[in-house]
Amino acid sequence: MRAAVLHGPEDLRVEEVANPEPAADEVLVRVEAATTCGTDVKMWRRGHPILGPYPARFGHETAGVRADTGERVLVGDSVACGACPPCLAGRPQICRAPRWVLGGFAEAIAAPEAALHAVPDALEPAAAAMAEPLAAAVHAVNRAPRRELAPDAGVLGGGPMGQMLAALLVAEGRTVTLADPHPERRAQAEALGAMSAAAVRDCDVVFEAVGRPDAWRAAVEAAAPGGTVVFVGGCAAGSHAPLPTHPLHYDELDLRGAFHHSPAEVDRALALLADGAVDWRALAAGPVGLEELAEALAERGGPARKWIVEPGPPVRR
Ligand SMILES: [Zn+2]
Ligand SMILES: [Zn+2]
Repeated sequence: MRAAVLHGPEDLRVEEVANPEPAADEVLVRVEAATTCGTDVKMWRRGHPILGPYPARFGHETAGVRADTGERVLVGDSVACGACPPCLAGRPQICRAPRWVLGGFAEAIAAPEAALHAVPDALEPAAAAMAEPLAAAVHAVNRAPRRELAPDAGVLGGGPMGQMLAALLVAEGRTVTLADPHPERRAQAEALGAMSAAAVRDCDVVFEAVGRPDAWRAAVEAAAPGGTVVFVGGCAAGSHAPLPTHPLHYDELDLRGAFHHSPAEVDRALALLADGAVDWRALAAGPVGLEELAEALAERGGPARKWIVEPGPPVRR
């Protein structure tokens, strides 16, 4: 079968590789669509802590068909250990020893059965793949106060994650303002029912979806007294963000991290996509094949979009 293989920073090759041999707790999934995300760009450009040693496979937003049963599945990107303190406390998204499932940019993947989620019938493969990042947005919204307590929401960053957050918050009936310097991204936010601005202020809840220390600071400064800031964007390893102490103390701001998602949040994301509550097509680009993946990952600026990669010939069901 064919697979996209990373041999080093910005060295992606499409190669003929051996068919995956599923272990006892794994199943073979023929990939129908895998979508690209910012994490893939980081993996391609400079490597990533969860990437295996080179040569390495990647792609973690993956939908396909089980080779054994023919069922349509989303391949979740991780399986929590179930035994560490966060897992025992019901927070699998911060598991201390997760098993990551990478390799969606290939014609097939051997995936732990525990990572698989059933895909609703009406949902096409590219939409199912996008349930993975949408689940992270669902999780971030779950980390915020509910709508009645925080009706005015701000989102910093109009990339795919910021757009997904805005879509979920609009669907909940919150007033949403998304801030991004790119006019194309502000237009995308407006198309989904949010307002847009160069900056936001005085919000009951602020979602940081940029992943840079200066944006973390801007998020704190954008919160109304008594407000909540949810940090969704991961900064480069070793980053520090100096935060203004005055509002943290005198305005009693709540600062909350949001990382990853739980299996239940993945199922919720699949249901939201199937219901049409979130318009995944607004972010979709392509489809492209494996040969065009490097070019898609190299794209900078412009509207927020996720490339749909279709690695092989159509899957026969
Ligand atoms: Zn992703
Ligand atoms: Zn765990």
